[in-house]
Amino acid sequence: MSDDIMVLSNATIVTMDEDYTLIPNGSIAISGETIEALGGSSEILKQFPSSRVHDCEGKVLIPGLINGHTHAPMTLLRGLNDDLRLDVWLLGYIMPVERDFVSDEFCELGTTIACAEMIRSGVTCFADMYYFEDAVASAVEEAGMRAVCGQTVLKFPAPDAESYEDAIAYARSFIKKWKDHNLIIPAIAPHSAYTCTEEILRECAELATEFDIPLLIHIAETRQEEDQWRDTYDMPIVPWIKKLGVFEAKVSAAHCVHVDSGEIHTLEHSGAGVVHNPSSNLKLASGFAPVTEMLDCGLFVGIGTDGPASNNDLDMFEEMRLASFVAKALTVDPTALPARQTLAMATRIGAKALHIDHLTGSIEPGKKADLAIVSLEALHNQPAFNRDPDSIYSRLVYTAKATDVTDVMVNGKWLMLERVLQTIEEGPLIEEAASYATSIDQFLSLREGSVLSKLIAIGDAQQEESYEVQIKAPIQDLTPILQKLESDHFNISRTAHYLEYDTYFSFDDPTQGRLRYREDEFVDSKGKVFNVRYRLTLIGPAAEKAYPNYVLLSRSRFIAPATHSLRFYREYFKPESELEIVKDRLRWLVRFQDEAFFINLDTILQPKVEGHFLEIKTRTWSRGDAEKKAALITELLKELGQEDAAPIELEYADIIQSV
Ligand SMILES: [Zn+2]
Repeated sequence: MSDDIMVLSNATIVTMDEDYTLIPNGSIAISGETIEALGGSSEILKQFPSSRVHDCEGKVLIPGLINGHTHAPMTLLRGLNDDLRLDVWLLGYIMPVERDFVSDEFCELGTTIACAEMIRSGVTCFADMYYFEDAVASAVEEAGMRAVCGQTVLKFPAPDAESYEDAIAYARSFIKKWKDHNLIIPAIAPHSAYTCTEEILRECAELATEFDIPLLIHIAETRQEEDQWRDTYDMPIVPWIKKLGVFEAKVSAAHCVHVDSGEIHTLEHSGAGVVHNPSSNLKLASGFAPVTEMLDCGLFVGIGTDGPASNNDLDMFEEMRLASFVAKALTVDPTALPARQTLAMATRIGAKALHIDHLTGSIEPGKKADLAIVSLEALHNQPAFNRDPDSIYSRLVYTAKATDVTDVMVNGKWLMLERVLQTIEEGPLIEEAASYATSIDQFLSLREGSVLSKLIAIGDAQQEESYEVQIKAPIQDLTPILQKLESDHFNISRTAHYLEYDTYFSFDDPTQGRLRYREDEFVDSKGKVFNVRYRLTLIGPAAEKAYPNYVLLSRSRFIAPATHSLRFYREYFKPESELEIVKDRLRWLVRFQDEAFFINLDTILQPKVEGHFLEIKTRTWSRGDAEKKAALITELLKELGQEDAAPIELEYADIIQSV
């Protein structure tokens, strides 16, 4: 029997079991995938006399670290564009690049790189949330690591699914395929409450309970998310998710930065695990998760690196150190989150947070042999104080580096020996990653050169070109025009009054045109605002054609509802200059000789411009039509008693700039 046994001898064993058992000069007997026994070296060697022996040379043997939350394939997007706000980073850069580049092949390569990096830092198991999770799982299997692989589901199209129905169908077949694998734990990953619908969350929970697999989700990562739920649903996000039945599944919730005490209790009662991601929360300025409070409440809180694009590494040693230090600073208490508890979060408690503690997370007979050997010989770990045996935790968490890990075993198989990877060849990976970086650089350089392409990349609306024929004339007195419009002479279909708040972005290259962000406040007869509309228009650089009397054919190259804030557009487009114009607009939609025209009477309130402007405009679809409409506009000008007006060729932004 003992022929099949491997003994790791002569190690300081940090078991991370419930009692935090430490075994100086200990040995572990491994039978196949599983830990058979552990104890003092001589005792184990006596028990298994004809076993293969691996001498750990007095190094420290710990359970392999568990990276509780990451997006492994994003190693290929590491450093793509940093120091941006989350929405600009995600919607402006990461998602457009993902739409174009993420494939099976991308995910397989990115995951293999992540595995190499994680094995090197003593990680034996991680939880992933990404697309093409079948490719992720294949790469993990090839590398020999253990992973909870969560197939992402979103309410909008993703690189691997046109719709959420497709994503769920993909998840179902992915789960069936990997369900009984010895290294892969398939999971479903509805990305977050704000990127899913109630229906999606319900369906994902049902799928997770049907197959008894984990459900991975981001919860309350930002203040904005939590505020949005309180504003919209009048409740915090955790009870809202609970109401949908999500916690019927084995939930592992990443972040939980902005949760209150009530939500922490709900998470605990629901049996959900939480994964804390200190680097990501610090880098993206998401805030500080109340980790100490969660642990005190009895919640299982693991530690994760988050994706390599928001960290930007996968180093769990760094993550442990940060988790502890941030908790101390946040609670103004240096006794908070001590080293031993921190290491437990990265091992046994982390396994509980992922609902896989029956497999891994501590060195105990019956658990899988997922182990890391750490050498504390290097100068930066010296000296060692042995008076208190628990000082080993302080050395592991506060001083050890990922590079101190020398050997890693998963499921009884060596993945790294004396810092040499056994299952992954690193050289080709670096070359392949570089080739992706070159293509992505080219893609973004091309896009960054065009305001229009950048607009389309954030994809709220399709490109829509609209042509207008228009005239603009300064006028001193509105009264005669108002009288004309109020007479029976005009066939008026609609009137409106609104305040327009326009921000014009200009760019270095004038051929890009101007981008206008407009907020229209609709004002009722009593002067009260009853509706607000947000619109984005890319205005062509110059008029397409001029007709007599300064009637112009102009082109808006893109017009769409503005779904993001002005701040978002400012940070995304980085305009060379900005101009703000506020005007009061009275608008009539009139029918004149069987054509529809808008008549606008504008008063520029800010910056102050004397007098008013009369604008007459209509849409057009063809140039022939434009000529006819241009003639009608000149006639309409006469009908309004403005035949002596001196029309101008300028846009409001030009008028302001010329004042
Ligand atoms: Zn994440």
